[in-house]
Amino acid sequence: MTDVYAMCIPEIVKAGARWLAVRIAEKRQVHGVTLVDLARETPDGQAAEGAAKALELIHQHDPAVWRRLVRDVRYVVVTKTFGTAGEYWVDSGWVLLNEAVVMRQMTEFIAMVVVHEATHARLWRMGFGRCPDRERIETACVEAEIRFARRLPGTANLIAGARAKLTRYWETDLRGNARKAERRERKGAKKRS
Ligand SMILES: [Zn+2]
Repeated sequence: MTDVYAMCIPEIVKAGARWLAVRIAEKRQVHGVTLVDLARETPDGQAAEGAAKALELIHQHDPAVWRRLVRDVRYVVVTKTFGTAGEYWVDSGWVLLNEAVVMRQMTEFIAMVVVHEATHARLWRMGFGRCPDRERIETACVEAEIRFARRLPGTANLIAGARAKLTRYWETDLRGNARKAERRERKGAKKRS
């Protein structure tokens, strides 16, 4: 019994900290989506402003994606991440946007990140999040980004960038994972023999 509590407490603490952070943060509504400003290194709400522009762009150019986003994503949170442009947090239903990326990149790029992460949210809610073949999920998310970007003028470079990201992903992460799996398999075979 005690062990179960010990396992759960960190999760409860994390969830509590998140709840508190959202409660005290600056928030704004963008056509039914709550945007939370938890940026730590960007003064005067500038990163949240950039994120709001990206959300407006999706709302304006892709009503179907927007409707799904409103349903599937609880909060869009601008904050500091550890190196990713965006993340989807399954347990809280948050889409995170990296404040540094928001400050540096074009609005169209940031909107593509939101569409990518919202697709993760959609797939998770449809029951595909736990699917072992991560590459199919990543491919679906990048394709969603590209479909959205095609609706916008002047995004040829961003579309090419998204395609390149997918190729890199296939070539590095997946092959790397496959090699790791192979090594694990070989180790297991040695132990068994
Ligand atoms: Zn992804």
